Amino acid sequence: MPILVMKFGGTSVANLDRIANAAKKVETEVARGYDVIVIVSAMSGETNKLVGYVEGTSKLYDAREYDAVVSSGENVTAGLMALRLQEMGIPARSWQGWQVPINTTSAHGNARFLSIPRDNIDAKFAEGFKVAVVAGFQGVSDEGRITTLGRGGSDTTAVAFAAAFGAERCDIYTDVDGVYTTDPRISAKARKLDRIAFEEMLELASLGAKVLQTRSVELAMRYKVRLRVLSSFEETDAASGTLVCDEEEIMESKVVSGVAFSREEAKITLFTIEDRPGIAAAIFGPLAQAGVNVDMIVQNISEKDYDDDHPGAVTDMTFSCPINQVDRATKALEDAQAAGLIRYDELIIDTEVAKVSVVGIGMRSHAGVAAKMFAALSKEGINIKVISTSEIKISVLIDRKYMELAVQALHDVFGLDKA
Ligand code: ADP
Ligand code: ASP
Ligand code: MG
Repeated sequence: MPILVMKFGGTSVANLDRIANAAKKVETEVARGYDVIVIVSAMSGETNKLVGYVEGTSKLYDAREYDAVVSSGENVTAGLMALRLQEMGIPARSWQGWQVPINTTSAHGNARFLSIPRDNIDAKFAEGFKVAVVAGFQGVSDEGRITTLGRGGSDTTAVAFAAAFGAERCDIYTDVDGVYTTDPRISAKARKLDRIAFEEMLELASLGAKVLQTRSVELAMRYKVRLRVLSSFEETDAASGTLVCDEEEIMESKVVSGVAFSREEAKITLFTIEDRPGIAAAIFGPLAQAGVNVDMIVQNISEKDYDDDHPGAVTDMTFSCPINQVDRATKALEDAQAAGLIRYDELIIDTEVAKVSVVGIGMRSHAGVAAKMFAALSKEGINIKVISTSEIKISVLIDRKYMELAVQALHDVFGLDKA
């Protein structure tokens, strides 16, 4: 039998009615002749609640116990989905990560897949079961402990199963009907894309478009999984949603395909550091060791003989990181200062920033995208604090209060509302 993977996100399994609605979509695919692997998220809001319980109990919590707690939301929906399908006369069985087993690294809270052996689920399909319902977001380490894959990780579970089982397609059912030019909750002019290239989706996801977890796109690209995003609340057919595919399969050629944003950013400046070989290593080494994900970096031009306290050349270094890592970053820098590894006069922390990015594979062959982007922001009076670019994206850090305005302006200037 051909195999199909269908993933239902939190809002799609938020209550018993929604689970029943999702089960009907599964029934349709079973009737078409598929053996179906269903991946479920926890009911919406559930994982946040569980994270809150953990943080309310222990500030510097043991990540193994964090995983034990926060993985549990998916266990509930997996069992309920299997029960609902059984009620509809469809032979279904639920699987928690350890039962499959979904083998992962032991990086608790952010584990990666090692292997997904097919044997157990294949044996159930061979017995006549039509649906395997698998709890998303979780796995088991080689120490036999439950792990989780990072927030939004059920997308990655779905793609990994599609790859492991050679599924015909991996359908990600969610609360929007596809991937849009930007988050449709931010811009009413956002337009649904029929197709998007893996590379572009990868950038959009990693720059904040949470419609797919970044690693799910990475895996789909590597294992050539046909990945589709579609609505669990609408009637859907073979043409619904957005297909994430190779760039050769895309007709539409826009220079910019999408605008992404992330509110959860912070900017840290080390004021008056020595400008000498090794200073960047002395700053970013301790940050890396503390597990801080540094994103954008800028260093000022150097000033000679700044004052009597600062003989030689001094400069300032600014970087951005996720807002929830500011405490960790500050501590790492203060410790490095105390240990005499670096010397600065002040740490200036700005937690009121956001990152806005434009993404498109067309940028590879078009000049002037950055200039157009900066002009559009300037027209709105938006000041740019940090800039970073890659082959197919340009990101800017700006005041968070201007984030939505910036997204709208960029969406307009690159004509994303027009097909
Ligand atoms: P699920 O619970 O189904 O995994 P998520 O909330 O994780 O759903 O992801 C879907 C959400 O992603 C949408 O509701 C939408 O607000 C957001 N989103 C952000 N950027 C985009 C985009 N470019 N296209 C579509 N949705 C987007
Ligand atoms: N329930 C998990 C989360 O909220 C995983 C997921 O939904 O993908 O992050
Ligand atoms: Mg999600």
